[in-house]
Amino acid sequence: MAEKMSLTERQAALQEIADRVRQCTLCPLSTGRTNAVPGAGRVDAEIMFVGEAPGFYEDQQGLPFVGASGKYLDELLGKIGLTRDEVFITNVVKCRPPGNRDPLPDEIDICVSTYLKQQVEIIQPKLIATLGRFSMALFFPKDARITKIHGHPLRANNRVYYPLFHPAAVLRNPNLRPAMEADFRRISELIAEIAQSSGPDTPDEPPPPPQQLSLF
Ligand code: URA
Repeated sequence: MAEKMSLTERQAALQEIADRVRQCTLCPLSTGRTNAVPGAGRVDAEIMFVGEAPGFYEDQQGLPFVGASGKYLDELLGKIGLTRDEVFITNVVKCRPPGNRDPLPDEIDICVSTYLKQQVEIIQPKLIATLGRFSMALFFPKDARITKIHGHPLRANNRVYYPLFHPAAVLRNPNLRPAMEADFRRISELIAEIAQSSGPDTPDEPPPPPQQLSLF
């Protein structure tokens, strides 16, 4: 779809999704929000970060990752020479769950199928970095453990899916910092590899069986 659209049309389509997110009443999370948080960044971003759900500050401002986790994410991006304006940042669910509880399966299903899937189709990122286990669970096998698979890219559909710890988990457990920073540094390398191959999946890395990529 996005392949046939101009940049202006893609921008308009992304904006239209954001407008729908802001008015969304499809699940009960809408009743408790101050602001929905559609996501922010470039429509032609090569890298898309998908977190879990807005927290207190995101709900206040309507922007993703603007609290302590966001400051750390900015720091990590800075270490690889990027700013948040050069990527696209969003979440699995677009409204803050009450008391920052985990998003429920129905909330995830509705929000992902209605909004995240379309955002990915429009942005067509070369790399989707998942932040934390809820985002990871959209693309990786249900029994995958973040402690095991973080930093291990999965190549499929001419895209890289790259599981990372959630920045909040790293802030809570500073022992994870070296691993998070090493995983992050690899992002530039992965993007360069994709740019070089720029064709379909390489024969020695066939796409994973369908159950490994549940949504996209
Ligand atoms: N944590 C998330 O998962 N997303 C945000 O936007 C902020 C904190």
